[in-house]
Amino acid sequence: MMKYYILFGPPGAGKGTQAKAIAQKYNLKHISTGELLRGEIARGTELGLKAKQLIEKGSLVPDEVVEGMIESAFNTTTGVEGFLLDGFPRTIAQAQALDRILSARAEAVTSVLSIMIPDEMVISRISGRAAVEGRADDADESIIRNRIATYHSQTEPEIAYYREAGKYREVDGVGTIEEVRDRLFDLIDEL
Ligand code: AMP
Repeated sequence: MMKYYILFGPPGAGKGTQAKAIAQKYNLKHISTGELLRGEIARGTELGLKAKQLIEKGSLVPDEVVEGMIESAFNTTTGVEGFLLDGFPRTIAQAQALDRILSARAEAVTSVLSIMIPDEMVISRISGRAAVEGRADDADESIIRNRIATYHSQTEPEIAYYREAGKYREVDGVGTIEEVRDRLFDLIDEL
C-alpha cells in the first residue's frame, strides 16, 4: 500500500518547509495545493485568474478545484512510496472527498501529522516570511487574520474528524526548524 500522509496545521506552522524534508527522507511526493495554485496564477491560466482573487483575500478556493488537482497528482505520479499532502484537505468536505478518492483506489489516509503553533506566532512568522517569499497573501495583517479565522472555522474541525478515525497525531511546532523536523521524523518512525 502507498502511504498517504497529511501535513496539518495553521498557516505559518512551517508545513511547506517541513514537507520538503519529510518527502526527501521518506521518498514521498510532496503535493502543496497552495504552491500548485500559485503556479496557475504565475502562468496566468483561467483557473489561476479565478483563484487569485480568493487567495489574495485570504479565502479558500472552491473544494472541487483543489480536489481535481489532488486527483490528477495521484494519477500522474510514479516512483514514490507515497504522498505528503500539504494544505489539503482544508475543509471537512475535502477530507470526505479525499476518503472517497482513496477508497476508489483501495487506499486510505495513513496518518495526519499536525504541527501546532499558537495564533500569536502565526502573525509574526507569516510577516517574517512575506519579505522572503513575496506572497501577496502574506503582506497584509488583515489578510493574515482572515486566513487564521478561515483556519479556525473551516479547517480545525478536521482534527475531530481524523481523531475519530484514529489517525490524528500532533507535534509541538514551537522551536527551530531542525527541532520540529526531528519531532516529525520521530513521529513517522513510530507509526
Ligand atoms: P497555502 O500555501 O497552503 O498557505 O495556501 C495559500 C492559499 O491557497 C490559501 O490561503 C487558499 O486561498 C488557497 N488554498 C490552498 N490550498 C487550499 C485548499 N485545500 N482548499 C482551498 N483553498 C486552498
